[in-house]
Amino acid sequence: MAASLVTAGRPCPICTKPAVPEHAPFCSVRCADIDLHRWLSGTYVIPAEPVDDDEDALISPDGADDESDR
Ligand SMILES: [Zn+2]
Repeated sequence: MAASLVTAGRPCPICTKPAVPEHAPFCSVRCADIDLHRWLSGTYVIPAEPVDDDEDALISPDGADDESDR
């Protein structure tokens, strides 16, 4: 029985599965992609703009004139 633990001691930071040298330090390209997205979302911080009170007017658009016609 040969030890199949290729990169022992280096679990995937995403899913904690044993990582593979091909996608180190991740276990798969998918996990690497997930980490990349996390990285990007953390790097490119989108400034949350304060919500204006104008949005209140968009909540109840009384444009149901069509229904009253039927
Ligand atoms: Zn993984």
